[in-house]
Amino acid sequence: MPQRYDLIVVGAGTAGIPAAITAAEGGARVLLLEQSDRPGGMLHVSAAQMSGADTALQRARGIADDPAAHYQDALRISRNTCDAALVGKAVALCGPTIDWLMSLGFDMDPACPAILHFHEAYRIPRTYWGRDGGRSVLRVLLPLLDQALARPNLTLRLRTEVVGLLAVGPQGGVAGVRLRDAGTGETEEVRAGRVVLATGGYGGNPAMFARLNGLPLYTAALPIATGRGIELAEAIGARVRGADLLLPTFAGIEEEPGSGRVVWHHLPSLTPQTRPPWEVFVAPDGRRFVQEDVESVDARERALLNEPGLTFWAVFDETVWRNAPPMLPGWTQDELAAAWDRHPSFTTAPTLRELARRAGIDAAGLTATIADYNAGQACGADAWGRRHLPCPIEVPPFRAVRMHGIILKTPAGLAVDEALRVLDGAGEPIPGLYAIGEAIGGATLSGNAFVGGMSVTPALAFGRWLGGELARQCAGGAA
Ligand SMILES: Cc1cc2nc3c(=O)[nH]c(=O)nc-3n(C[C@H](O)[C@H](O)[C@H](O)COP(=O)(O)OP(=O)(O)OC[C@H]3O[C@@H](n4cnc5c(N)ncnc54)[C@H](O)[C@@H]3O)c2cc1C
Repeated sequence: MPQRYDLIVVGAGTAGIPAAITAAEGGARVLLLEQSDRPGGMLHVSAAQMSGADTALQRARGIADDPAAHYQDALRISRNTCDAALVGKAVALCGPTIDWLMSLGFDMDPACPAILHFHEAYRIPRTYWGRDGGRSVLRVLLPLLDQALARPNLTLRLRTEVVGLLAVGPQGGVAGVRLRDAGTGETEEVRAGRVVLATGGYGGNPAMFARLNGLPLYTAALPIATGRGIELAEAIGARVRGADLLLPTFAGIEEEPGSGRVVWHHLPSLTPQTRPPWEVFVAPDGRRFVQEDVESVDARERALLNEPGLTFWAVFDETVWRNAPPMLPGWTQDELAAAWDRHPSFTTAPTLRELARRAGIDAAGLTATIADYNAGQACGADAWGRRHLPCPIEVPPFRAVRMHGIILKTPAGLAVDEALRVLDGAGEPIPGLYAIGEAIGGATLSGNAFVGGMSVTPALAFGRWLGGELARQCAGGAA
């Protein structure tokens, strides 16, 4: 006799693990399905900077904050392009989620809470991160998952991919999933009254990114971010929203040429609050496209969004190479030497014209740009209003490093209401189907911006909230 489940959670990642644990603790019979061979999802690579207001850590430091201020900041940063109702729900849950992590011995970096500038800054210190990024979060979640798996009412199946949703009834609705066991290759149908899609975004799927966002993908997401859950729901009538709200993160270097994967752990230091730029940033036509030291990263990201293929070069000379603080601080001398020797994104040349030819930049555009930049250095008035003018770019050899706007989370996802029920094209809930985490679209809580911490924290928070809510429904016998 097949086992019976009240709830199937698809995806054992940031949102799915807390959802499954909380639902099982509430007494629901839960099946947690994960396509890969380990739970944890994007937390294995995510920086997992989180945000939350009115936390015990803030109070201990005398920082006055509350969810209303967090909400206002999120709306300001997103320029009102986020889903205000869901942001309101998230900010109420985020602070308690930080406190919950701390109560479980979370390895918080002592600098937290802080104001960071890698994404557009909050007005109040409310960003938190573990000393080991997402792995610090996993060190809390995985032991909890192990404990919960000791209960008879929670089952985890790894290497099990959901390949379809079982639709029922004249009004649609979901009655379970079709899954494929990666070991045997066999497919199977498993029924349950509720299915939660916690399948993450599509940052590992260049074809889906091209379909929804019309751009090449330079990504730091793991290949498990297939977007499959979004597509499965779309196939039964769910509404996908947010594709028009893309904003890339500024910026990264491609690993292997043509791979579309970026060197995540060695990001270039492009935050002027940390390291004022010594380089000039140029587009493929050799033009500058932004004031390199503009404090707002949002302004740099929006300018990059207008450039072909989200690609630009940081151009500099021997003087900068010898005297500037490192632009690539994570790289060892050996890694740098190898990169300058053979990585196609790293170019050197004795003249600017030759640099342009080798790198693939328009030569006339680049030489005119550098002449103009050097003239600005001489008179102390930069055409783009740049304030940091350390030296002209004139001493060979010249260097260029090709960079790209990168994807940490994808904007489009399943439209949900405040109960996290997936909505169809008419805005009606699809019975039995829920979504949490990046599957609801990175833009839902960030709009066409990057609101710091508004992926990991709400993924955890919505996971815990929905797990508890669905367990209550199951206990109450609600349909
Ligand atoms: C390098 C990097 C840095 C980041 N830094 C930050 C940050 O500092 N702060 C922040 O807030 N956000 C950050 N993000 C984004 C954030 O980490 C993610 O948005 C979030 O972790 C996603 O959580 P999730 O639960 O939706 O998905 P995931 O954690 O990716 O979990 C989804 C799980 O579902 C599984 N799955 C998918 N499809 C199926 C299927 N069909 N069947 C079975 N299983 C399936 C996947 O294998 C995966 O394990 C970063 C992302 C990256 C890549």
